[in-house]
Amino acid sequence: MKIVVLGAGAMGSLFGGLLAEAGQEVWLVDVWQEHVEAINSRGLIIVTPTEERTIKVRAVTNPRAAGEADLVLLFVKSYSTEEALQHGLAVIGQHTVVLTLQNGVGNAEKIERIVGRDKVLVGSTSFGANVMGPGKICHAGSGETYLGELDGSITERLRVIASIFDKADLKPVVTDNVVGVLWTKLLANVGINALTALLKVRNGQLLDITPAQVLMEKAVAEALRIVEAKGIKLVVEDPMEYVKKVAYATGNNISSMRQDVERLRRTEIDVINGAIVKEGETLGIPTPYNETLLLLIKALEATYTH
Ligand code: NAD
Repeated sequence: MKIVVLGAGAMGSLFGGLLAEAGQEVWLVDVWQEHVEAINSRGLIIVTPTEERTIKVRAVTNPRAAGEADLVLLFVKSYSTEEALQHGLAVIGQHTVVLTLQNGVGNAEKIERIVGRDKVLVGSTSFGANVMGPGKICHAGSGETYLGELDGSITERLRVIASIFDKADLKPVVTDNVVGVLWTKLLANVGINALTALLKVRNGQLLDITPAQVLMEKAVAEALRIVEAKGIKLVVEDPMEYVKKVAYATGNNISSMRQDVERLRRTEIDVINGAIVKEGETLGIPTPYNETLLLLIKALEATYTH
């Protein structure tokens, strides 16, 4: 299968690298010239706690050089989705499928507005990665990769992609409720990400600081009212307990939003707490805690240039 990765940063390089290693034809597309050049000249270096290996994979800055794909893996940050797809239209053909494993909600809607709903697959992954430098990434964690159709059907194309992911040890799970999977993960991000970025704490510390835990519960409770109004079926029994379990299980982690803020990078707040605020406005459900978290992170981002 010919796979084009649009956005070959940490996650795009990890998935692309593992799929190339498993024998697929992979093209990494990224606007970061130095990274692309490093991958082409000495290979993609993947570092794990036990080893460092180099994978041969093609990388380009111009999507035209990659040509039409069977599968596009969209792995830019959510705020670059439209720009990357518009820039990468040359890789989309009549039968191309676009899969997003990006965090947050609303990514699929952005993609379908550009390529059409029938081409979009969505999912969520527990793999984790960081960029260490040009052409070098750290594979920080592994876990299931859920894949699904937006309408919940189990299709042949899903099965084919799952079998390819399986060969690359990407732990695929085909689901008929991918929307429920996405919203369940969103709840954890709503409760953990902005607060850890604002308080400069590790995920687990939110559980030790009583006012922080109260804020986490308030933000998640608002999100749960949206979930109920939209009729979304979550994939956990007790969502509030689930969010706390995630904070506990990832206790020592520095959340991606805290990392972004510390590196003065734009965050994905718009598709996390921002998505709750937007849905609340549409549904007439007040979301003051999420709106405050959204505005605080936006204010923090604004300080980068002041
Ligand atoms: P990243 O910043 O490391 O990678 C994004 C890449 O996209 C960058 O290399 C950037 O140069 C490139 N890019 C930006 N605009 C582009 C364009 N127009 N065309 C092509 N490339 C472009 O981000 P990441 O950590 O890999 O995250 C990607 C997505 O995966 C995010 O939505 C994130 O929430 C999600 N995610 C990340 C992790 C993780 O552990 N890093 C885990 C699960 C999900």
